[in-house]
Amino acid sequence: MAVIVLALARAGPAEPTLTITLRVLNYAEVPEKTLIQAEEEVTRIFRKIGVESVWRHISLSSEQNPAGSVFRRSSFPFLELSILIISRSAAKTMAERLDLKKEVFGLSPRSKDGRGGRLAYVFHHRVREYVIKRTLFEQEALVLGLVIAHEIGHLLLNHTNHSRTGIMRERWDRQDLRLAAFGDLVFSPQQADLIRAEVARRMIKRENSKNRK
Ligand SMILES: [Zn+2]
Repeated sequence: MAVIVLALARAGPAEPTLTITLRVLNYAEVPEKTLIQAEEEVTRIFRKIGVESVWRHISLSSEQNPAGSVFRRSSFPFLELSILIISRSAAKTMAERLDLKKEVFGLSPRSKDGRGGRLAYVFHHRVREYVIKRTLFEQEALVLGLVIAHEIGHLLLNHTNHSRTGIMRERWDRQDLRLAAFGDLVFSPQQADLIRAEVARRMIKRENSKNRK
């Protein structure tokens, strides 16, 4: 088992055998064009570290409650991660309940055992406020992509820590966004190794659970 994990983890960018499936639930009604561009950004970021992304858009009716009926933990396969882009009002409720700082753009709760979180929340209205405040309108999709990649990073790194540079920085400045525009705001080599190993671990876990059925 360990050998397989290692082999998959070492696959590297040249041989992208590791794949994550990302379910997007767009409660914030982000325009499709912006969302697709953001997803392309996320795909690029993960491809750089040898992880491929498969996107699934889940259609929603506006009446559905993001925190309740849609997400049923037990029905999710191991490797699928869900991105809930939640509405301003849902984000407000969550921020108050969890006492979140104003500059928090997303949230990725950990699973009970601290490994294997599969759901990230993204606060799109805060991304919008951020780009409006800095007159970076044309970079909304880029910033949204960075936020999604950052939250997936938390899920796959299994921790809430931040680094001093790169995607996992707590807050990005203009220099970071310039780097991002050139595709150079990335995971560190160490983070990349951990993410690849974690994707491999979850793929094997999924494979094992399939075989048991
Ligand atoms: Zn973070």
